[in-house]
Parts: sequence; structure tokens; C-alpha cells
Amino acid sequence: MSNGKDAMTQVNHPLDLPIDLQEALDATVADVSAYQGQGVLPSYLPSLTQVNPRKLGIAVALGDGRTFAAGDADEAFSIQSISNVFSLSLALQQVGGSLWNHVGKEASGSAINSVVQLELEKGKPRNPLINAGAMVVDDQLIGHDSADVAVNELMEFLRERCGDCTVEIDQSVAISESQGGSLNRSLAYYMAAFNNLSHPVEDVVSVYFRQCAIAMTCRQLAKAALYLAFDGTDPLTGDQILLASRARRILALMVTSGHYDNSGDFAFRIGLPGKSGVSGGILAIVPRVGTIAAWSPGLNSAGTSLTGSIMLEKLVERTGWSIFA
Ligand code: GLU
Repeated sequence: MSNGKDAMTQVNHPLDLPIDLQEALDATVADVSAYQGQGVLPSYLPSLTQVNPRKLGIAVALGDGRTFAAGDADEAFSIQSISNVFSLSLALQQVGGSLWNHVGKEASGSAINSVVQLELEKGKPRNPLINAGAMVVDDQLIGHDSADVAVNELMEFLRERCGDCTVEIDQSVAISESQGGSLNRSLAYYMAAFNNLSHPVEDVVSVYFRQCAIAMTCRQLAKAALYLAFDGTDPLTGDQILLASRARRILALMVTSGHYDNSGDFAFRIGLPGKSGVSGGILAIVPRVGTIAAWSPGLNSAGTSLTGSIMLEKLVERTGWSIFA
């Protein structure tokens, strides 16, 4: 998108930070060493159980272009439903506000893949960050094109945002998503039954399974999301990626619905808009400052990275970055 009237001022000077961020990240990783390897791997997705549970990484991208990282921050993992934030950005860019005719804005309070809720609410998912909502978004993204075109657009978007054209889909994870995808297909069929999908279920789930299998490092992920920290504008180029109003709404959804039925706990402990994925990745946004991506594969009982969320908690304690501060 080109510059628009609600684009914000470009950040082109070093941000004045109260602490040495590299020291803070190193100390944060050291702090959580007792938790390394803890949590459970999601057994319903075989590809994710083959990951070394002791992996631990964290990266910060700042609006002035600097990145800082510690631990395994340059090792790629499948970003899973963190990708929902990016597909939502693209869909809002392409179809605009009519997207909200198909998906709600409320916290779900249920598991990410609750069929019960979808049945009760007649095929309109609670929000775009749970599985059903993400599939509705994908359906809209396909638009008048094909599933493959939609996936390619999403990949191009991510590569451009993180400035790395090597970002790819992990095909073995994508196959595993599809093989273990009965519940996601059920959700999609429910929505189709309520006329909330315009494309065949297999097309829609094929986009969703592939977006979940996008492999990125913490550093790439943090860089890719910087526009969300700066009102939809790339702070390095000044390009408006998304209308400011839409970027803010995505942040609101990340606060209320970014972590399954664990979002209240995340807001309470960390106080930043965020999105978790079942691979143990967490993306968090620090408005007007930058972004944080953490990764540790073991999950808590709600599906959020156990050690990743503790890392974020420790970092926010050090930096004072909570939006409620
Ligand atoms: N591929 C996973 C699923 O659909 C993604 C879930 C997540 O990361 O929240 O179950």
C-alpha cells in the first residue's frame, strides 16, 4: 500500500532504551534455564514432536532497524497459528472491513479448535486468531484466485516484511498438518454448512495447513511483524503496510484472543499484544518500540509455550514494556 494520511512518522533514529538490550536478552535466557525442556509437545501434530524440546530462543526487532537475539533465535521453526496475524493483515488489506461479516471479534474462552462453539454460533467463528477464524480469513484471501496464489501472496508478504527471500514452507510439516487435520476439516465443513465459506473446504484447509508450516526464525518473525508496532507502517521505509486503524485492531485481538483460552493469563503476566503457536513460538508487539519473538517448544496446558512465556515475562520485567505500565 502507498503512504496514506494515517501513516505515522518514520522512525529513523536509534531508540533511546533504558537498558542494554543484549544483556537483558542474555540474562533472560539464563533466567529460564531451569525450565528448559519443560512443557508438553503437541502429540496431535507428529511433526512437532520431533523437535528438540530444549530449544530456546528470543529476538527483539526495534523500529530503528536494530535486532538483538539470544539462544536459538536464528533457528527456524514452523510458526503455526502465529501466521494468522499475517494472513489477517493481508486479508484486511485486500477485502477490507467486509471480513467482519464472516468472523467475530470476541475472545473465545474455548480451545482453539472448538467445534461446539462453532455449532452454537452458527458457523461464524469468534475471532480470526482461532483455527476456524483463520480459515475464514484464508477463504477471503483466496478471493477470486486459487489457494496456491493466496499462499504465494502470503509468502511474498512475509519475505518482504522480514527482508529475507529465503523464508519457505516446511513441506514435511505441511503434510503432517494435513494428515492430522481432521478436526480442522470438521471446523471448515461446519462453516461451509452455514454458508460461511465461498471456496471448497480442501482449498481453504490447504492454505491454512501451509501457512501453519511456514518456517521462520525468531529474528525473522520479529522483523516481519514490525509494522504492527508502528501503526501499520514499516518504521524503516515509512511504507504503509496496513491502515493504522486496522493495525490497532489486530493488536486489540492479540490482547484478547492471541493465546487460546490462556489470553487473560498472558495479558496479566506479560501485558503485551501477542500470538502463540503450538510449535512453542510467541510473537509479542511493543507499540512504538518494536517486536519480540520467543521460541521454546514445550507447551503449557492451554497450548502456549511454557518457557517462552516465562522468557517474555522476565524480559518485560527488565524493560518495563507492558502496555499497562
Ligand atoms: N496447525 C495447528 C492447528 O491447526 C495450529 C494451531 C496453533 O498454532 O494454534 O491445530
